[in-house]
Amino acid sequence: MADYSRLSRLPVPLLEWYRGNRRILPWREDPRPYRVWVSEIMLQQTRVEAVLPYYERFLRELPDIPALAAAPEEQLLKLWEGLGYYSRVRNLQKAARTVCEQYGGELPGDYEAVKALPGIGEYTAGAICSIAFGLPTPAVDGNVLRVVCRITGDETPVDSPALKRRCREELAPLYPEGAAGDFTQALMELGAMVCLPGGAPRCGECPAREFCAACASGDPERLPVKPPKKPRRIEQRRVWVVLSPAGVLLHRRPGRGLLAGLWELPGAPEGEGFPLGWETPAGAEPIGTARHIFSHVEWQMEGELWRLPEARELPEGWRWADAAALAGEVALPSAFQAFRGFLPKA
Ligand code: SF4
Repeated sequence: MADYSRLSRLPVPLLEWYRGNRRILPWREDPRPYRVWVSEIMLQQTRVEAVLPYYERFLRELPDIPALAAAPEEQLLKLWEGLGYYSRVRNLQKAARTVCEQYGGELPGDYEAVKALPGIGEYTAGAICSIAFGLPTPAVDGNVLRVVCRITGDETPVDSPALKRRCREELAPLYPEGAAGDFTQALMELGAMVCLPGGAPRCGECPAREFCAACASGDPERLPVKPPKKPRRIEQRRVWVVLSPAGVLLHRRPGRGLLAGLWELPGAPEGEGFPLGWETPAGAEPIGTARHIFSHVEWQMEGELWRLPEARELPEGWRWADAAALAGEVALPSAFQAFRGFLPKA
């Protein structure tokens, strides 16, 4: 049986631990709403270390919400290149435009208003409102769910919406007056640094060890209870690196779905021919295989290099990109990283 009364003992030792052990991160040092918002969006599905250089660059080029709202799409995608999940940055800009139209360019300090913005769900709204506005709004992500399940001994499968709702409801009244931002970040930090997933949690260093149900059971890794895994769909694809004197051939993906609206190396499912119907030229050569894992699908790619003596006319949605374009306005997704060595270089 889950015992949520254990959580009431958490705030004091957790905050003390956080203040002595927290990592220094730029969005913590200067928690203005825009900065917290950008950091939270970047940190979705991306590790802190990977986010840091992107974060600094993004804020240098787009220092406030009106600048983000006005940025050309190519600049946005370039600033995001390599972070993946590009819908995040598109939604960020959509939300920035709404904030300019409805709130004079400043994020409103109101949970429901923030949550109504594109790309902002309960977790991100909770994080922004507690960290930037000091509101008692829990931000329950996988790290926080794990910590709460272990402390309380809750055996509900971790993907259950009811579990998430209960965590939010039980944590909200525990928010200490004047320390909402620290409490949210302390919970996240504990999950990231001490109460680790996929390996033994460091109970000996944990401020919750005296009242944690999972630790007392002697087998803390048993929790949280994981849902059964859905298998990822495997897609065998051919990918072409087609070079001409005008550069490498790129295709713009459809506006919806995987890598929506981004430029890609031309590709097709195994067994289908080249998408523009071109014949394989003499001298075409295989350039190896590569794999890229998205959340629900895995591409297993086989690459082929074509060298054309002349650039050909292209239909809408296709282009040639030379070295300058690849270094500048074109954001090529990291799924094609393995074939980058064959692309034009400056
Ligand atoms: S005592 Fe161990 S299992 Fe419990 S919250 Fe801390 S690290 Fe996690």
